[in-house]
Amino acid sequence: MTKNPPNDPAANSNLPISVACPACSYHVAVTFIDPYRQPLATVAWPSTEEEAKAMKQLPLSFVRCVDCGHIFNREFCYEEVPYSRKPHLMFNKGTTWTNHLIQIADMLLGYVNEGATVVEIGCGEGHLLRHMASKKKNCRFYGFDPNASYETDGLFEGRSELFVPEIHMEQLQPDLIISRHVMEHLINPLGFLQSIQFNASRLNLRTRVYIETPCIDRALETGRVGDFYYEHNSHFTTQSFTRMIQRTSHEIDLLTHSYNREVLSGLFRVGTNSHAVELESQADDFRIQAKLGQDVLTIQLDQLKAKGKSIAIWGGTGKASAFINFYRLDAKSFPIVVDSDPDKTDTHVPGQGQPIQYRDYLKDHPVDVILIPMAWRAHDVLLEMQEAGIRCDQVLIEYQGRLVDYFHDDHPYHVPGEVTAMQPPAPHYNPQSQSYWTTKHASNSQV
Ligand SMILES: [Zn+2]
Repeated sequence: MTKNPPNDPAANSNLPISVACPACSYHVAVTFIDPYRQPLATVAWPSTEEEAKAMKQLPLSFVRCVDCGHIFNREFCYEEVPYSRKPHLMFNKGTTWTNHLIQIADMLLGYVNEGATVVEIGCGEGHLLRHMASKKKNCRFYGFDPNASYETDGLFEGRSELFVPEIHMEQLQPDLIISRHVMEHLINPLGFLQSIQFNASRLNLRTRVYIETPCIDRALETGRVGDFYYEHNSHFTTQSFTRMIQRTSHEIDLLTHSYNREVLSGLFRVGTNSHAVELESQADDFRIQAKLGQDVLTIQLDQLKAKGKSIAIWGGTGKASAFINFYRLDAKSFPIVVDSDPDKTDTHVPGQGQPIQYRDYLKDHPVDVILIPMAWRAHDVLLEMQEAGIRCDQVLIEYQGRLVDYFHDDHPYHVPGEVTAMQPPAPHYNPQSQSYWTTKHASNSQV
């Protein structure tokens, strides 16, 4: 029995499924093989018949991306595969395979300059690294593999851990990263490669990446079902492999088949995504300004309160609520919150708890300062105040991490024909007269 999520349209049919493709991140896939269950096929070595028969049955629910053709087990769970306890038993000693490995190593050596740093992710027993390191004595070689079954022979440094781009790209600054027969085991190989690309870009590295995976094309052409087992959750076609690399890098040196079209290889450059680095910089600027803004607004509001100014906040839900909570405008210090919507009366500001009053509260209880968290609709609020006869000395909005005076400071929320000023209250103030307001139109006509 295969467990499917409740209300899953694909549970009993071959309707399209909404799931992210590991190779290209397209979000529509279709059933490739009807779901069934099998035990682990590669990493477990049961020693008795009973043990073998008692092995946990794991879900195989292979689907195919309708954009790039990638095939993957959408119910795969990495924790079910005990790589750290048992070595991944890939047969590495066949003559053809050994020749292939040496050809790859020699080809890659052509990209290794004097003094370069080479990292292999998933180095296994370390065959490839030992071969390369024996030919390049003045380069640094690092092998990452959490199962730590490698023999270094003093030729490379072994790391019994997973390669984490956010940490190890900066720490090792690799010129070449090699990862053979690892991508098909990852939940999110595209994300992993893009993370290497991004970290190389922000560190200004020009790293080459070589990846190799099994190619499923011939299994599809010849109807082989034995290729689909639990440990291989992700099956690359030539197209899906190509798409994954194209979504990672625009500088591709090599895309090729080998081993009778059973293996796919790609070599490409990362460290080239300046657009991503620019977006990171923009995000940093916003984050820092927002953090500083919390202190700046606190100081500005403290100064107003020290001068004895009374303050009302216009808006108590949605974006106004987010503003009130972000800037920690608590109910004790800022008890007056009004809203344009009478239906919100007698509700409270989420998180901080101020009771929300209808805006007309300010007619009977005028304040010195009205703070409008939703700067983008400040002018509408001003028109509403004008219409309702609500007055105050100053209107504040948030702009670039501080509070600015709507009428007297520079900001981008002015609109044509807007209310341009509030007149100071006169002794004979009459809310019905609207005499405290002028508009651009009115002031122009007076000139
Ligand atoms: Zn895809």
